[in-house]
Amino acid sequence: MLAVVKEREGPGFAIKDIPTPEVREDDVLIRVKSVGICGSDIPILAGTRVIPWPMTPGHEFAGDIVKVGAKVKSFGFDLKEGDRVTSCLVIGCGNCYYCVEGKESLCDNLVETGIHVDGAFAEYVRVPAKTVLKMKDGTNYDDGASIDPVASAYRTVKACRVTTKDVVVVFGPGPIGLYAVQLMKLRGAKCVVNVGMTEDMERLKIARELGADYIINSSTENVAERVAEITGGKMADFVQDCTGAPPLADMATTILRKGGTFAITGLFHRPAEMNLGKVVRSELKVFGTICYNRNEFEECLDLVEAGRVKTDPLITHHFALKDMNAAWEVIQARKAIKIMMHP
Ligand SMILES: [Zn+2]
Ligand SMILES: [Zn+2]
Repeated sequence: MLAVVKEREGPGFAIKDIPTPEVREDDVLIRVKSVGICGSDIPILAGTRVIPWPMTPGHEFAGDIVKVGAKVKSFGFDLKEGDRVTSCLVIGCGNCYYCVEGKESLCDNLVETGIHVDGAFAEYVRVPAKTVLKMKDGTNYDDGASIDPVASAYRTVKACRVTTKDVVVVFGPGPIGLYAVQLMKLRGAKCVVNVGMTEDMERLKIARELGADYIINSSTENVAERVAEITGGKMADFVQDCTGAPPLADMATTILRKGGTFAITGLFHRPAEMNLGKVVRSELKVFGTICYNRNEFEECLDLVEAGRVKTDPLITHHFALKDMNAAWEVIQARKAIKIMMHP
């Protein structure tokens, strides 16, 4: 089968024929129809994030089941050949302290499809049946391949427990940020503000279309002043970071009201400086969430299938999998929001 393979350390990837995976008794084999390129795939493909290689990345996908492992039926999963499905990337061991607590994204033995084991930048992907969810007949594969980033934003949003009087500032108009904007509105926030930079203007426009009440260009505007203006001086109840950009951590402390919450979805690869004196004096709360659990993934599939969270405006490019090099050029030029590959 055709696959995009990270063969060695350093930059670059191969587009080549590799053997189709064997199906083990707990697994299903999926013919991949759509697979999104995630922000976290970029450092993997660029070679700045080390993964066990050779490996096929790709974890945001949907497709059709073509083979079901011998034991799958005995687990009670109603999965059969021909089913249209999507899958969580999180594969919990099921036995550690965190899995038993129902927090599988914190699993001590966590395995992630497309990050630790072969993923979906390929014609076929093998995944454990327990990570697979059936899609409704009318759900398209691009929607199915979008549930992973929706769910990553959702775990943070859900944990915020916003109320109808809350003002939320979302940092970053990338896919996760644009889903966070929609989800915060859906969960009842009174006002959602999306912050980006000059190069994000197209994305910020989409944020407005998707329900953001205000957008702020942090390259040209003073974010704290704008938030003060929007909130009548009260400042924000919540800030959700969807960037992982270190300078924004301290900005959060300057735009939150006393007792406000800084909720972090963005993956910080470097330590950030933050005024902890402000955290103490203003009794700010700070927390992060990582990935999602199966139940959150299921809730997000439902939200997308019901049309309550829109994926379409985010999908800016489509390529055949064999044209990964062309997709890579679009990424380098920062022209895309979400690219869908079709093996
Ligand atoms: Zn992802
Ligand atoms: Zn575990």
